[in-house]
Amino acid sequence: MLEASGIHVSYGPIKAVRDVSIAVGEGEIVALLGPNGAGKSSLIGAIVGMVAKAKGTVRFAGEDIGALSVEAIVRRGITLTPEGRRVFADLTVGENLRLGAASRRDKQGVADDIEKYLAMFPILRARFNALARMLSGGEQQMLAIARSLMSRPKLLMLDEPSLGLAPRIVDQIFELLTQLRADGLTMLVVEQNVHEALAFADRAYVVASGKLVFAGTAAELQASGDVMEMYLGLEGT
Ligand code: ATP
Repeated sequence: MLEASGIHVSYGPIKAVRDVSIAVGEGEIVALLGPNGAGKSSLIGAIVGMVAKAKGTVRFAGEDIGALSVEAIVRRGITLTPEGRRVFADLTVGENLRLGAASRRDKQGVADDIEKYLAMFPILRARFNALARMLSGGEQQMLAIARSLMSRPKLLMLDEPSLGLAPRIVDQIFELLTQLRADGLTMLVVEQNVHEALAFADRAYVVASGKLVFAGTAAELQASGDVMEMYLGLEGT
């Protein structure tokens, strides 16, 4: 479904991503792991056209999307939920959800999807008319995910969905992602929370200092003591 090849991202003299290639197949859940500053956000930003000076090839469903605008990429079916639970703080929950569907023209479909996600995220129904700024961190993250889903992505990319959330809330977020997976959604998830991510993902990539240092199944990564220890600061199984 997604094939990013030979991606390079530089910020002036800083080489944030160096010749990294990753792929995501339809229906797969892929984790992108690595220490702070490894280049994970830069890599996924390059894929969705948000990093201006990226080099490399990005193909989605067979089409070269490298030169497309962010909006055109969203219309093709890739949506990124950025790090930091970015919601429109001064808009209500309902307005945030409708904005997620800004690229759609099917009014009834949008109304049906709002209903679908309010059923899936009951806390958002309870807070439907509240300003997003009044929500807790976990609720804002759920809103950020639900808003991304409103564009009907084929591939949902999530940048650190569990960042800064209490363990109980992290579990809730992963439960929701598991439901979405059961619906057949393809996902690429950037995570610091390695154990949760590997329990959830089919495959994983590890980047460190801008380079790809591991590609394999989640089970292979868990069994790879060296990678787990050297790059993720954890013991393998
Ligand atoms: P984190 O988990 O901390 O978000 P990351 O793996 O997502 O890290 P990036 O955010 O992609 O890593 O950062 C990779 C490198 O590029 C880091 O050295 C970072 O300081 C640098 N960097 C990222 N964005 C910019 C920018 N806009 N301008 C300059 N340097 C940047």
